[in-house]
Amino acid sequence: MSDPIFSRFSPCIAPAILAAMKPPADPAPLAQLLAQALRLDPAAIDALYGLEPVYEPEAGEGHAELCTDVEIDCPWCHAPHLLRIDLTAGRAQAYVEDCQVCCRPIAVQLAVDDAGALASLSTDRSD
Ligand SMILES: [Zn+2]
Repeated sequence: MSDPIFSRFSPCIAPAILAAMKPPADPAPLAQLLAQALRLDPAAIDALYGLEPVYEPEAGEGHAELCTDVEIDCPWCHAPHLLRIDLTAGRAQAYVEDCQVCCRPIAVQLAVDDAGALASLSTDRSD
């Protein structure tokens, strides 16, 4: 008990702490864990922890756009109207957007395909 750290503990507790700090009698499980950890590649780590794919803007060809702009004619006043479509908001979307010119409601229905591109779009008067 000459260690200054343990001199702060009561003589009854210090031996229990020392016993708990001893290395394990059989180091084999630790060596197995270390070997297992060193074998993990990024795919195995994702499988273990269930990580989501990461969006990488510089990924180049093959990655889907997050949004697209489509010009439509307002079903009320027939003025050209630019729709910004969020391609990540669902495979089938239906919402109402007000015309930028006449402010009347336009019902928008659209579908997004498996590749994340706009598959269909229709607009109508929303009453
Ligand atoms: Zn309009």
